[in-house]
Amino acid sequence: MYVILMGAQGSGKGTQAALIGPKLNLVKVATGDLFRAATEQKSELGLQVQAILESGNLVPDELTNAIVQVRLAQIAAAKAKGEDVAGALFDGFPRTEPQAQALDEILANQGESLTAVVEIDVPREKLVARLAGRRVCESCGTVYHVEADPPAVPGICNKCGGKLLQRKDDTPEAITRRLELYDDLTRPLLAYYAEQGVLERVDGDQDIQKVEQDLLDAIRSRAESMKA
Ligand SMILES: [Zn+2]
Repeated sequence: MYVILMGAQGSGKGTQAALIGPKLNLVKVATGDLFRAATEQKSELGLQVQAILESGNLVPDELTNAIVQVRLAQIAAAKAKGEDVAGALFDGFPRTEPQAQALDEILANQGESLTAVVEIDVPREKLVARLAGRRVCESCGTVYHVEADPPAVPGICNKCGGKLLQRKDDTPEAITRRLELYDDLTRPLLAYYAEQGVLERVDGDQDIQKVEQDLLDAIRSRAESMKA
């Protein structure tokens, strides 16, 4: 089972990935984690990544794909050994159409294919409200939300009494710019997967448990229909 989770900042994608991954026995594959791990292990690919990141550049597609390929080979090996692993849950990868094509090839070489690409859909104004209400403790880093998760005393951290601040990139203007950038980047990807018939959409404007259940239902029903 190979699943891609997509969703803008504030859509709850990270939260949902942490919830559904273990339930489906899927190993999370996030490029940020893989880059960190490769750098720490000082593998040949890791040293290349480190040099690029230190120079302030983006890791090119070819190198990203190579690192993902290594990880997927490890997951396939674990599966073959009979470990409790059903596949991978991609978070933040692929980001571009060339990466999506490379992923299709890597999976095809392993005799696998994508089970589902699920987009967590949240209306734009809801995303802005979620992100703009975020407050962070300047002392201990605890994150609050003025409506969804407010502190006992407005502006003061429950844990340490520190002052709660809004990050500079959490203003409505900055958030709107980030969301537009996300749209521009992902539109071609969503079109690519819609054309392949693997794209599912889940309403992300519901409580966390309901979103989780809808995601699990969508993924399991696609997995069933692939077996048939
Ligand atoms: Zn604090």
